[in-house]
Amino acid sequence: MKEVINILFAESDPGDAEIIWRQIENENIRFRKKLIDNREEYLETLKTQLPDIIISAYSLNGFNGLNALEIRNELAPRVPFILVTGKIDEIVAVDIMKAGADDYLMKKNLSRLGEAIKSAIRKKEILVEKENAEKKLRESEEKYRLLVDLSPDAILVHMWGKILFANPSTLRLLGTDTIENVKDIDLINFVHPDFRDHARERIKKIYDTGTPQSTEAKYINLKNEIIDVEVVGIPVKYMGKPAIQSIIRDITQRKRVEEELIKSKEKAEESDQLKTAFLHNISHEIRTPMNAIAGFSTLLEEPDLNPETVKSYLKIITDSSDQLLSIVNDIIEISNIEVGILKAFYNEINLNSELMMIYQQFRKKAVDKGIEFRLQTSLFGEDAEIEVDNTKMNQILSNLLSNAFKFTKDGKVTFGYELKNRHLEFFVSDTGIGILPDHFERIFERFIQVDNTVSRGYEGTGLGLSIAKAYVEFLGGKIWLTSESGKGSIFYFTLPYKSIKQQQLPQMETKDKNQPERRKSILIAEDDDNNFYLMKELLSDLNINIIRASNGAEAVNAFKSGKDIDLVLMDIKMPVMDGYEATRQILEEKPEAKILAQTAYADDEIKAMESGCMGFISKPFIKDRFVSLVKEYL
Ligand code: ADP
Repeated sequence: MKEVINILFAESDPGDAEIIWRQIENENIRFRKKLIDNREEYLETLKTQLPDIIISAYSLNGFNGLNALEIRNELAPRVPFILVTGKIDEIVAVDIMKAGADDYLMKKNLSRLGEAIKSAIRKKEILVEKENAEKKLRESEEKYRLLVDLSPDAILVHMWGKILFANPSTLRLLGTDTIENVKDIDLINFVHPDFRDHARERIKKIYDTGTPQSTEAKYINLKNEIIDVEVVGIPVKYMGKPAIQSIIRDITQRKRVEEELIKSKEKAEESDQLKTAFLHNISHEIRTPMNAIAGFSTLLEEPDLNPETVKSYLKIITDSSDQLLSIVNDIIEISNIEVGILKAFYNEINLNSELMMIYQQFRKKAVDKGIEFRLQTSLFGEDAEIEVDNTKMNQILSNLLSNAFKFTKDGKVTFGYELKNRHLEFFVSDTGIGILPDHFERIFERFIQVDNTVSRGYEGTGLGLSIAKAYVEFLGGKIWLTSESGKGSIFYFTLPYKSIKQQQLPQMETKDKNQPERRKSILIAEDDDNNFYLMKELLSDLNINIIRASNGAEAVNAFKSGKDIDLVLMDIKMPVMDGYEATRQILEEKPEAKILAQTAYADDEIKAMESGCMGFISKPFIKDRFVSLVKEYL
């Protein structure tokens, strides 16, 4: 209570008022008073300055105590009101108390007045305090509810599995939009079976120890979605009983990212290991032929060598450089595949003749190793005339055949094809060491060797099959194998069958069969003398006329001067005018001219085809391949 209280007296009898003041003073209450006796003043006072208490008589000028109380109720409900009256009227007293008076006293017995004032003021103070506290509570509850409602985490209260309260995020997480759908389901049923025992243990621990517990788990919701979650369970009292408030966070996305990171880390580590193994391997693979080339070249300098020995040394040197070249080619090719610059160059070929050439290349190896070697073809005549990227097809078959011979000590290697569902299904079978099914997929990956220790006794870089797979898939086919460890393997691959017969338009021109064949002419555009002589030498068995141009401009002039040229072998890098430009100008002069580019890089091949060349011959030249290609285009 304040030290000095403001009292509003409504009293029309000044004598009575005096008595009441005295009584209050006697009670040691310090106060300021305002005395009014009519309704207007009473109203005015309540509107302008609220007193701490109203003490009112019943009979007033123009109104009464009950009216005064009603006005108080309306204008100042928190101000205590005590009625002091001279008459005892039970009915009035009841009305007054019903209307909300804080006390009712008789003028002739004012001994209780001081106590009544103090208690009425105290009562109102408590009421105001209570109301304020409730207001604050309501506000903070409101804030809390807002936080809980808007929380992205699921917040729920449950008691032995039964959900008592759930925020909107809980419902979303559990795959519903109304609590009705989940309130009768034991919360444990939403936990993935693999995590249920652990979840039960945690819940028990919270009840037993009264300490919060956190864990990660998986949930399955009503939509059958599997969600990774992080759960914190806190012991709480709900309606006076022990319960658990759980905060559940959906960490599915985070888990996925973590898993991907782990996978890519493992992959990076694995590919690091593979690359180390590869480098180890490749240096061994390169060093072996390099040693042979360096060693036997030095030996060739020895005086008095007999021609037989020289020949055998030269053979070793040529074989070793072929081996080196094929390793370098593989490495270049795998990087081309990686950067995605593969291009297909289709040629019309006779499949059987092409395979025969491959057979010839490998026959010597078969004879040397004492292995039976067979080729099985299944198309005849025109049906075997197909359009295919033969360079890639040959490479695939060569890689498979090299492996077949490499991993076979004795027995038989067979290769060939069959026509199945408009696809050519090629096969290469051997009776070698075989491959365990576990490795069927993996061996097509880069650098993978079933046993990648150098001591395994087989040469190789682990690139052959990955190149073959990339080529096959690039050309629209698939590759697979069957194998039995210790018995042998069969590798299969398919390529779309494109028969020339079906594509050909009716021939407009027919050759006069009686006319003697004209001797054909090849223009070799090449600035390097050695290269020119090498090509001339390689073509010496063919009955053809060779013309030389030392740069692009000379090649163009040869056409401008009207020379009959059947084929051009065009070098790319030449002084005055390069091969691309020369090709363009020649084709302007003679659009039907056949030009093959001599290329050293995959990039050159693409550019050459773009500038109009019909095909290309890869450098360095391998005699059989070179001659057959030239024959094919002549
Ligand atoms: P490599 O240069 O090592 O031969 P490949 O990619 O051609 O590389 O082959 C990968 C691995 O697959 C080989 O190292 C070998 O372990 C296994 N492999 C391939 N072909 C055969 C086969 N015909 N018989 C047994 N194992 C084979």
